[in-house]
Amino acid sequence: MKRFTYLLVGVLAIAVLAGACASTQQRGLDLVTRAVQASGGPVALGGVKTISEKGTVKQWEPEQSAVAGGEMRFSNESTIDAVTDVATRTTRIDWVRTYHYPAPRSFTYSEIVTPTAGHVAGVDSNARTKQSQESNPPAHTMSGVRMAAVQRELLRSSPLLVLEMFKNPANLSAVGDISVGGGVTHPAVDYRAGDQIFTVMFDRATGLPARIRTLDYDSVWGDVTYDLVLSDWQTVDGVRVAMTRKYELNGRVVMETKISQVRLNAPLAADRLVIPAAYLADVRGPAAGSVPYQWIIRRQFIGVYLDSEQPSYDTKASPGLRFVELGPGVQHQVGGTHHSLVVEMKDHVVVYDAPVSDWQANWVLSAVRAKYLRKPVKYIVLTHHHMDHVGGIRAYANEGATIVTGKGTAEHWKRVLAAPYTRNPDLAPKDLTRTPIVEVADKWIHTDGQREVHAYVISPNPHAEGLMIGYVPDIKLGYVTDVWSPGAPLPDRLNPDLASVVAGIKKAGIAPVKFAGGHGGTADYAPLAALEGK
Ligand SMILES: [Zn+2]
Repeated sequence: MKRFTYLLVGVLAIAVLAGACASTQQRGLDLVTRAVQASGGPVALGGVKTISEKGTVKQWEPEQSAVAGGEMRFSNESTIDAVTDVATRTTRIDWVRTYHYPAPRSFTYSEIVTPTAGHVAGVDSNARTKQSQESNPPAHTMSGVRMAAVQRELLRSSPLLVLEMFKNPANLSAVGDISVGGGVTHPAVDYRAGDQIFTVMFDRATGLPARIRTLDYDSVWGDVTYDLVLSDWQTVDGVRVAMTRKYELNGRVVMETKISQVRLNAPLAADRLVIPAAYLADVRGPAAGSVPYQWIIRRQFIGVYLDSEQPSYDTKASPGLRFVELGPGVQHQVGGTHHSLVVEMKDHVVVYDAPVSDWQANWVLSAVRAKYLRKPVKYIVLTHHHMDHVGGIRAYANEGATIVTGKGTAEHWKRVLAAPYTRNPDLAPKDLTRTPIVEVADKWIHTDGQREVHAYVISPNPHAEGLMIGYVPDIKLGYVTDVWSPGAPLPDRLNPDLASVVAGIKKAGIAPVKFAGGHGGTADYAPLAALEGK
């Protein structure tokens, strides 16, 4: 009897659960059905064969600020001319990007993306891959990770997304109301597209999609929300199109697209959508799994994205990261776009800079373990707070390292280390809030009784408040990031960045012979110093 009761309770529970699931799915489908109707209905949406859009795009980068945690940098204003062939799911975007940061310049290029291949014609970055540099005219095959990012954003911003959701009800689940910003609540549904989940929040009054969210990972702020906010709806041939599209990163607008012209079903010249055959040879399709979306998207904001499968280096040009010995117990990690300096002390190791990601930090940490027989990394010295030089900070904190950081930046790192990072692909979550932080007012001198290592705040400098250079006095080696890239050709006279380095070294009273860089290799200091007064 008892057994029968258990069985009955079990059967009832399953029935209730199944009913709940069915009704949850039904609620989701109801929201999507309403959105499809509000967008023009299935017939009008289904009749869209091509989409042509023109507009302008503005982008801001929060983690390249002058002050840690301070105002975002306005990075560029661009024009776009985009065409999509709906049947073949192929899109071409012609860009003219005018950059204000990190340096004024302009890139004119086109992206073509099909379901299986991606192509860039023209120069779209200062960090060009080997293939781009060797192609004439410049062009390259998109990495699978960039393809995944482009495809995700094209789907998110498509006026046909609601129709796709409607056609795939099994991929929907209602998630209840979601409150954003000033307490506005939206009924919402999760939509699974491949290995991505879009949380689509609807406008209660119109039924239209208002905000489309993904849960991303950011190398500085850990778990973040990335929202596309749609507004300024217009009707084009019976279809509702959002003319203003803003992206919010953790609630802050980092990108704003204003569409000035939309045409539906305009004929497209077929050759505009064709990727040249030579660039299809090594196509691998969009990457799946842990794609570093925020890195890929936002390095393009400032025009320095390296379009490679591996964010740390060009897989077609570099065999990978490696150490170059610059003196006894001093290793320059090179082989990528971003470098670190490793200094062996009596019973521990000091590392300068934690660039790109925890993947790269883990590479350095394991190379240190192999080379220096388990001496722990006790200090991680950050030259400055910009996202590309600190993305591995958690891996060092996780090892128990003390963070050494420039004046005015300690509070920023406290907040960063308190942020949850459950979506970090390279590091398991742990409480890092007790990580020791040393804020350097003007110089940091650390000794083990045999060797000293130094860090000096360079103030003023035009790059970042609290920026430091490193120094290893016994081999007269300096370490510098961004304000000078040793090995790059020197200009005829000092620019503000280089002038700040020369002035900073004088003020510090040190006498470096060589410098190693957070970018680039090594160079003698004398030719730079000789520019003073020219
Ligand atoms: Zn920087």
